[in-house]
Amino acid sequence: MRFQPVIGLEVHAELLTHSKMFCACPVVDSTQVRPNTAVCPVCAGMPGALPVLNRQAVGYGLRVALALECSIAHTSLFARKNYFYPDLPKGYQISQFEYPLAVNGLFVIEAGDVERAIRIRRVHLEEDTGKLTHVRKESGDYSLVDLNRAGVPLLEIVSEPDLHSVEEVRGYAMGLRALLRALSVNSGDMEKGVIRFEANVSLRPLGVEELGTRVEIKNLNSFRSMERAILYELERQAAILDAGSRVNQETLGWDETAGSTYAQRSKEEAHDYRYFPEPDLPPLVVEKDWIERVAAGLPELPRQKKQRLISQFGLSEYDARLLGEDPDVARYFEQAAAAAPEVPAKTIANWLLGEVFGWLKQSGLTLVQAPISPSGLAGLARAVNSGQINLTTGKTVLSEMLNSGGSADEIIQARGLEQISDERVVTDLVGKVLVDHPQELAAYLNGKETLVNWFFGQVMKAGGGQVNPGLVRAELARQLREHKKS
Ligand code: ADP
Ligand code: MG
Ligand code: ZN
Repeated sequence: MRFQPVIGLEVHAELLTHSKMFCACPVVDSTQVRPNTAVCPVCAGMPGALPVLNRQAVGYGLRVALALECSIAHTSLFARKNYFYPDLPKGYQISQFEYPLAVNGLFVIEAGDVERAIRIRRVHLEEDTGKLTHVRKESGDYSLVDLNRAGVPLLEIVSEPDLHSVEEVRGYAMGLRALLRALSVNSGDMEKGVIRFEANVSLRPLGVEELGTRVEIKNLNSFRSMERAILYELERQAAILDAGSRVNQETLGWDETAGSTYAQRSKEEAHDYRYFPEPDLPPLVVEKDWIERVAAGLPELPRQKKQRLISQFGLSEYDARLLGEDPDVARYFEQAAAAAPEVPAKTIANWLLGEVFGWLKQSGLTLVQAPISPSGLAGLARAVNSGQINLTTGKTVLSEMLNSGGSADEIIQARGLEQISDERVVTDLVGKVLVDHPQELAAYLNGKETLVNWFFGQVMKAGGGQVNPGLVRAELARQLREHKKS
C-alpha cells in the first residue's frame, strides 16, 4: 500500500460495579434478568429525580486510568450530552467532556512479535443507555425498550491515532480487554456487549506527517467485526484516494451480513450535542491519597504477569501470553504447577493449553466450570511424567476426568491402565513380534531400516498401548542388533 493506515480507537467498557452510575439500582446481567426490573426514577429519567455519583465507579475508573499510566485530574466535571433517542430516557447522557477523569496515558501492546507503546488521550466516566429491540410484524413494526442497562457505569478509553495496522488494533483491543479483566472492573464477555468499540480510520501517503480525513465506524461489538470493518474501510479509502478524490468525513455503521460500512451521517449533519456542565452534580474531586491507595492496590497486570511466567516457569512467550491473558487461567496454571513441582511447568502448560483448552472449546465451558481442578490436572501430569502411564493413556485418562470428574489415580486403578515398565514383559513382547513376522525381519536385515517404526507400532499394539514406549524402543533396537550379528 502507498498509504499508511492511521487508526484511533474509542473503547466503551461497562464497569462491574454493584449499582448504577447515579442511582442505587443494581447492575444486572441483561441476558439473565427480566427487562425493566432494575429501574428507578433516576435512571428512568423522571423529572425532578437527582443523580448521586457512584464512588465505586470512580474507583474502578481510577484503577484503569492508573494502569494506563494516565495523569489523574484533581477535579473533573460531568456534562450533559444532549440528544433525543428512545433508549435515553432523560434526553441527555451524563458524560465527561472538557474535563475528563484522566488524560495522557500509555499502553504497551503486542502486534506480532513487537511491542509498541500507544498513547492514551483520555479516560472518562459516563452512563450507558437503555437497550432497544426492534420488532418487525405484519401488523406493524414496533420497538421494545429495556432500561436495565440505562445508567450502568461506562468507562470510555480514547487512544491517540497511533495504530497503523489491523494487527496493532487487535493487539490493542485484546490487550485492553485483558487489562480490564485483570483489574476486575469488567467481565470481558464480548458476547454480552460489555466492551464496545468505535474505530476512527484514515489513510495518509507514506512519509507524510499530516493526518488524512477520517471516518468514524460506530458500534463494533466484537474483535472480528472491528477488524473486518477496518480492513473494508482501508480498502475503500485507498480506492477513493487512488482515483484522486477525497474521503468524506462522516460517521459510518458496519453491516456484518453485507460485510460493508454504510453512511450514517456526514460532518454537516453531525449532532450538535450542546454540551454543558451537569448542574445536578458537583465537580468530582479526587484527592492525592485516594490515587495513592488505588495505585497501591493494583494487581499484577497482564504484561507483568507474562514476563513473570516466562522468567519463573521458563515458558515460551507464546504460552505465557495465552496463560497470562485471563487471570482465571493464569491462577489455575500456577496452582497446578505448584501442586506438581516435580513436573516441568512447560508440561503442565501443554496439558492445559492443548487437551484441556480443546475440551473447553468443544464443551463451551470455562476453565472455572470444568470438572477438573488444578490439583487434578497436576495428578494427571505427575502420572505421565513419572511413567506410571504413557502419554497416549494420559490423554484417555484426562478425557475421562473431564467427562466423569474422577481423579487420575482412581481412573488408572479402576481401568487397570498402569503403564507396563516391567523389562521382562517388554523383552518378551518384542521377541514375540519379531518371531511372528519373519518376512519383515528379513526385509529389515536386508537394509529396509524404516521397518523399525513398523515393529515399534506392532509391539505397542501387542501391549495394548500400555507399554512404556521408551523401553520398547531401546529393547527393539537391542534385539534387532542381535539379529544383525547372528
Ligand atoms: P470525536 O469526539 O469527534 O469522536 P476526537 O477528535 O476526540 O473525536 O477523536 C476521537 C478518536 O479519533 C481518537 O481516538 C483519535 O485518536 C482518533 N482520530 C482523530 N483524528 C484521526 C485521524 N485523522 N485518523 C484516524 N483517527 C483519528
Ligand atoms: Mg468519537
Ligand atoms: Zn436507577
